[in-house]
Parts: sequence; structure tokens; C-alpha cells
Amino acid sequence: MDDRLFRSAMGKFATGVTVLTTKVDGIVHGMTANAFMSVSLNPKLVMVSVGEKARMLEKIQQSQNFVINILAEEQEAISRLFAGQSDERREIEFDWVNDRPLIKGAIASILCDVHSAQVAGDHTVFIGEVKELLLNEGKPLLFYGGKYGSFQEGILD
Ligand code: FAD
Repeated sequence: MDDRLFRSAMGKFATGVTVLTTKVDGIVHGMTANAFMSVSLNPKLVMVSVGEKARMLEKIQQSQNFVINILAEEQEAISRLFAGQSDERREIEFDWVNDRPLIKGAIASILCDVHSAQVAGDHTVFIGEVKELLLNEGKPLLFYGGKYGSFQEGILD
């Protein structure tokens, strides 16, 4: 099957956008990811999928924890930055909870310990056990068909 066809089909699924963050040896690493889903309510488990070429893979393998930061609609630049799609090199100041780095302004931050990991083709699926949740006001940044967007006024309310 053609890669482009597969990508186009997957792009038909509208998602939010997250930045995964983790800290190794005192240094924070972040990566934009939309392969995220809720898995289980009891116990509270979520899932992210990280590509084999992503530096984030070995970072999470080392730290055994990660934060899923769900971006707000005004955070497209943050998404591009942590996807390596920005020419701008920016110092990012993180918020800290329980020694875990959080993206400031995210509408939710989900603090996880690695529950399990499964290699699936060229990605590794991490199941995260949710340890703490932080919520903020705001609307989500959306991603659909390779483009960013946001909810139109009125649809959410
Ligand atoms: P790098 O490419 O080294 O890091 C990513 C970028 O973040 C670099 O520009 C780096 O400078 C910057 N950065 C990292 N840490 C910091 C810091 N502390 N301060 C400032 N800048 C920092 N890939 C997946 O594997 N799974 C997905 O679900 C996924 N979803 C995506 C969704 C979207 C909408 C997009 C745009 C991309 C997605 N990607 C996904 C691709 C992924 O974001 C990129 O391939 C990314 O570059 C891989 O990151 P990396 O860990 O290799 O690290």
C-alpha cells in the first residue's frame, strides 16, 4: 500500500495536538505528538505512540515517565517548535509539578509513569499510568489534513 494514501487516510481523523515532555539528567526534552488516546478509566491509563527515529523514544525509556500537554488554540508556534518545524530557536520556560516539566498555557497536562511499552512497527506505543492531572481554561489547537485549526465560535458553546 502507498505511504501517501495511508497518511492521507490517517489525516482524515481530526485530533488535538499535544507536546510530550520528559526530563533526563536535568534536561527537558519535548516532542509534538497527536497519536494520543485515553485507554482505561480504572486504572487510569492513556497511550502515546513515538516513532523509532524520535529522540523522545530513548528519553522516555530513560526517565520512565512523561507529561502529555494538550495545547491551546494559540499554541501553534509551540507545536511547530517541538515538531522541529521552526527556524526559531527558543528558550522555553516550563512549569514544574512533582519535578515534571509542563508546557505553560496548555489546556491540560497529564502526568504519567510508564505502565508498559510495546514496539509496533516503526513506533513504540507507551501506555502511561496517570499520576496527576492539571486543567486550564481555553480551547484546543486542532490538527486535520496536515493543517492546524481551531473550533469555530458557537460550535463548542
Ligand atoms: P527533536 O527533533 O530533537 O526535537 C523536536 C524539536 O523540539 C526540536 O526543534 C528541538 O529543538 C525542540 N525541543 C526539544 N526540547 C526542547 C526544549 N527543552 N526547549 C526548546 N526546544 C526544545 N511523532 C511521533 O513520533 N508521534 C506522534 O504522535 C507525532 N505526532 C505529530 C503531530 C503533529 C501535529 C506534528 C507536526 C508532528 C508529529 N510527530 C509525531 C513528529 C514529531 O513531532 C517530530 O518528528 C519531532 O521532531 C521528533 O522529535 P524528537 O524527539 O526526534 O526530537
